[in-house]
Amino acid sequence: MRTKEQYREKIFSMKPNVCIGGKMVRRDDPRLIPGVNVLELTYELAQDPKWKGLATAISSITGEEISRWAHLPQNPYDLLQKQKLIRLAARRVGGCIQRCMGHDAINALAICTKEIDMAKGTDYHKRFMDYMKIYHQNGLDGCCAQTDSKGDRMKRPSQQADPDAYVHIVEERKDGIVVSGFKMSITQAAYADEIIVLPTRALMEDDRDFAVAFALPGDWEGMTLVTRPVWLRGKDDPDCPPFCRYGVSDSVIVFDKVFVPRERVFMCGEWEFGRRVALLFADSHRHSYSGCKPGLSDILCGVAALAAEANGIQKVPHVREKLTEFAGTAELAYAAGVAAAVFGEKTASGVFFPNTIYANVGRRMTGELIYHEYNTLTEIAGGIGVTLPYGEDFECDPLKNPLMRFIVRNPNISPEDSLKIWKLVENVGASPMTSWYEIAGVHGGGSPIMETIALGIEYDYETRKRLARYLAGIDKEFNDAKDLEREPTFGDGLVNERLELNK
Ligand SMILES: Cc1cc2nc3c(=O)[nH]c(=O)nc-3n(C[C@H](O)[C@H](O)[C@H](O)COP(=O)(O)OP(=O)(O)OC[C@H]3O[C@@H](n4cnc5c(N)ncnc54)[C@H](O)[C@@H]3O)c2cc1C
Repeated sequence: MRTKEQYREKIFSMKPNVCIGGKMVRRDDPRLIPGVNVLELTYELAQDPKWKGLATAISSITGEEISRWAHLPQNPYDLLQKQKLIRLAARRVGGCIQRCMGHDAINALAICTKEIDMAKGTDYHKRFMDYMKIYHQNGLDGCCAQTDSKGDRMKRPSQQADPDAYVHIVEERKDGIVVSGFKMSITQAAYADEIIVLPTRALMEDDRDFAVAFALPGDWEGMTLVTRPVWLRGKDDPDCPPFCRYGVSDSVIVFDKVFVPRERVFMCGEWEFGRRVALLFADSHRHSYSGCKPGLSDILCGVAALAAEANGIQKVPHVREKLTEFAGTAELAYAAGVAAAVFGEKTASGVFFPNTIYANVGRRMTGELIYHEYNTLTEIAGGIGVTLPYGEDFECDPLKNPLMRFIVRNPNISPEDSLKIWKLVENVGASPMTSWYEIAGVHGGGSPIMETIALGIEYDYETRKRLARYLAGIDKEFNDAKDLEREPTFGDGLVNERLELNK
């Protein structure tokens, strides 16, 4: 399996098509390193024997052990393991592990290419699985470029004044296609091996040119990644705890008449499948949130509990009550993910897909509560998160003595540890990363209204209405077999996979 050193070496050797602050930079630019560090942790976990079977899986394509992020889930156990891995990794990097978008994109394409082929007689699925073989053999990491810049939100792609508002096909050739347009908010694009491109919305016949999916190396000719890195204050301070080393970058990707070789094209004009592939990505991603959002709640809960102790208010009833709210959010979201996994279903492609109702209810709840959780941390910690003097002030005489006395609230906590706690409160609750997590918590995987729309369409309201008619005495009988008698999947696949891992 690929090591973190191999990943770093490859990424640093890529062509400099990343632009930060108006200048083209190489991928070893210090502002990108906090994000690279997150990716390296994912490679480290996969190499660690302790996490074998969790951070790794057996490829359904090559039969070899691979990173779980590259694995196409085959059964509920794979989904449960993914969820657990995301929570575990999120706790270590302070939140977003950045690998799930690529994972969700490959799931969506594996499923949708099969369905397009079944309907249209195309050969996308074989193409995609051939691509996946290379992906697995080389331990590649892909980001997902789904979100188009979208221009006027009330117009469809083909109605936009500027056609580049959505990535689209400008030329079809025998050996491939040429594409142009803008994707935006693409996490980890600047340090991914591959950019995996999908449509972002349902399409109509006029939008045919916008029905396009493909994958390209991150430094491919004609692509520019205009990148915004985010990191924590003090990341270069040698005394900074490991957590400060982590950060993230998001990119606008400008596609300027980019040639995509035929073997890397996975959808080309099949507008009827725009909605399907967009939702497959989004629902898989909403399931991934059932791992990362509990991980983020774990961090917020822990920091709030520690801040309460540092303030000496840990036994106060309203503080204890507020801490239970973190437990409620984290574990309900996690439970929704578990339910989505065991009530998921095998698709025609063989990929096992989470139940969309559970994936959407869990994601919607965490999106709605994200600011509340940060608010709880702020309430318990007080205002010091935004007023804490800079670290250097605690080092310089003659201020060191008064400041090291100023920082102590709980006499049982040393001045050094008190300072560490309040720096953590600042980093988690009042830093550029805080805003990133708050906004990602609302919009990542689609704005909250998208989960509401999904639930509006997919939830079985008719059965509930028939239940009410039965209870009201309008109908004599009520049949809810379809709704309640479906079994969770604990089938052979699940058991066999466990046995395989325990060998
Ligand atoms: C931190 C972060 C990381 C991200 N990472 C990725 C990534 O790795 N890959 C990726 O592909 N995307 C990524 N995204 C993008 C994310 O999926 C989008 O932010 C999300 O889908 C919302 O799109 P938008 O930001 O363009 O907002 P908009 O779509 O502009 O939404 C703003 C509001 O307008 C409403 N609205 C929009 N269109 C309509 C309409 N036609 N009718 C009625 N109301 C409408 C929305 O419901 C919402 O309330 C990321 C976003 C964030 C914040």
